[in-house]
Amino acid sequence: MSNVNRQSADVPRLLEALGIKYRSHGHELWAPCPHPDHKETRPSWSIGNNPQNQSNGSHYCFGCSFNGGPVDLVMAVRGLSMGGSRQWITDRGLWLKGSLPLAVTFEITKLLSNKLRIPSKLLSGHLGMWVTPVRKYALKRGLNDEQCTRWDICYAIDGAMGGRIVFPVKDENEEWLGWHARTFCNQDKRYKNASEGDGFDPGAIFGMRHWPPPDARAGLSLVLTEGALDALACERAGARFLAAVGGSEPQARQLLKLQQWERILVATDGDDAGDRLFRTIKIALGSRVDVRRVEIPCDADAAELTLETLRSLIWQAEGSERNPRSGSTEGRVVRRRRVVRRSVDPQR
Ligand SMILES: [Zn+2]
Repeated sequence: MSNVNRQSADVPRLLEALGIKYRSHGHELWAPCPHPDHKETRPSWSIGNNPQNQSNGSHYCFGCSFNGGPVDLVMAVRGLSMGGSRQWITDRGLWLKGSLPLAVTFEITKLLSNKLRIPSKLLSGHLGMWVTPVRKYALKRGLNDEQCTRWDICYAIDGAMGGRIVFPVKDENEEWLGWHARTFCNQDKRYKNASEGDGFDPGAIFGMRHWPPPDARAGLSLVLTEGALDALACERAGARFLAAVGGSEPQARQLLKLQQWERILVATDGDDAGDRLFRTIKIALGSRVDVRRVEIPCDADAAELTLETLRSLIWQAEGSERNPRSGSTEGRVVRRRRVVRRSVDPQR
């Protein structure tokens, strides 16, 4: 998909023109997949609907991975060529006027209605335009441009977040609720997360902005990790819905949100802290949620594994029978094997 295909469209009118019936969930519109090869009745396809955001018009199907921008959508639904699709959209006046900025800088610390202080001096835009040290770091950790757009990942050179890559924690309306910020230049404190002093909502979870509505979650799994980088690795490995709780001690209000899922696959680090988080989730939610461990190898984290390894571990957890003796987690930990890592990050 080229950037030109990402030109912004009036998404609700585009869907109406294509005869796609949708339902709104924050800044996403959900519908059964419109790709003609994918017949379904339940919505697993969503398209961004926020003209202020780069992800406006970008769409993704969790069932068949059909994705792209408005042009790709029209090509698939109408069976048109790329040029024909662009013309089809033009003829109906469905393009949005004006182009989107490639980089946005928040110069002033904003105080929102929920009183979150968004860090100042954040830089965003396409990954290819990021300054070299942070771009290199992001690529080394496997991030791609698609994800940087989908999750509004940004960074700062100076200011309070200077030297950090920032993973915004937003709700489905794209409101900031908090952030996880990780150093890309070896600072002593690896992670800085928004605190309640910053106005952080203690119930916020990185990932929830792209969760489907609660009544559309039947049969779906949520993949849970400590940090955003691990969550995004799971996404690249095929996980549909993510939850990075921002450490190994989940907040009570986060647990309340997590209990609205049927199944949670816990892909925390293969160490004591990661096992502890799994047990915490299992004890807190196990009576109503099917909580399963993704067997991340000893002393590894999800982002260090090859995508093939991570994908097969997630699949194993997804396919495993529910263990009737839910207390027997220790045995699992002992069985864990070491697996060849994708790379070793000296900063870990
Ligand atoms: Zn599909």
